[in-house]
Amino acid sequence: MRIRVQKLLLLIVTTLLATATMASTSDALVIEAPVPGAILHITIAQPIDDHKARQFVTWLQAVAGSVSSVYGRFPNPSPRVLVIPTGQRTWGGDSAVPFGRVTRQGEESIELYVDANRPIEEFYANWTATHEFSHLLLPYLDEQHRWISEGFASYYQNVLMSRAGHYSPTEAWQYLYEGLERGRASRPDLTPNEAAAAGIRQARMKIYWSGTAIALLADINIRERSGNAESLDRVLGRLQQCCLPSKRTWSGSELFAKLDSLLDEPVFMPLYRQHAQTAGFPDVKAALQRLGVDIDDNQVQLRADAELADVRRAITEGTSL
Ligand SMILES: [Zn+2]
Repeated sequence: MRIRVQKLLLLIVTTLLATATMASTSDALVIEAPVPGAILHITIAQPIDDHKARQFVTWLQAVAGSVSSVYGRFPNPSPRVLVIPTGQRTWGGDSAVPFGRVTRQGEESIELYVDANRPIEEFYANWTATHEFSHLLLPYLDEQHRWISEGFASYYQNVLMSRAGHYSPTEAWQYLYEGLERGRASRPDLTPNEAAAAGIRQARMKIYWSGTAIALLADINIRERSGNAESLDRVLGRLQQCCLPSKRTWSGSELFAKLDSLLDEPVFMPLYRQHAQTAGFPDVKAALQRLGVDIDDNQVQLRADAELADVRRAITEGTSL
């Protein structure tokens, strides 16, 4: 989830101390935590006890570290992270992290609303923080292309939870398969661009999963033709080198053209032309079969001797570094 303008938690934000490694006020705990390529400026709103706060810092370093592993460094060298305790089931259902979002008003901030009473293990098993941190792999995109933002974050959420060992590869592909099926069933009358313009309430699954399908198809294409020497990870690394963090809004086609310029042959704009303004859902069935993601009665089974089994393993079992 992400929005550009937020109701600022001014009370908390104004307590940030630039140089402190850890400081406590009556309203918040402020901690600077290193991860590869970045310092996280973490603010933990009260009431969360010090022990849990320290557990949260270690957890957030692990999550940000998994995003750093995509290309060796976190996409933003100095992101803000706000951890805000909220009552169980306040929003977003029964979850350790019922809600999260990225805000980009001048600087990038990740807000995570947490049920602080839950054991820390539940936070590691929860994908919300991985999803939100993954948003920083791309610049802010205009509303019509929110399906790209949400799709790429949803793709990396599953891929990174697997690479970090929180999902087995089979689980990761099961979640990807189920999400893609939800996307396929959601508003087949709309194109991805139309779905994003219609809004989350109208076409949530279409928005989240059509972009995931494009990320998957692009990653497979890049890896297959380079024998895994190239990958979506590496292309995004080049994007970060040239262009992130970016303070402005990009269009989806501008982003895809830029990504293509970082490759030997275009991958993204051909996918954009094929799918962005086409109703229905990108066909991923053949791609999943070639990866060896077999579906039997809606259950994923991974096939070791599949044509692209090495691509599948590289996606969910390791980085391309
Ligand atoms: Zn999101």
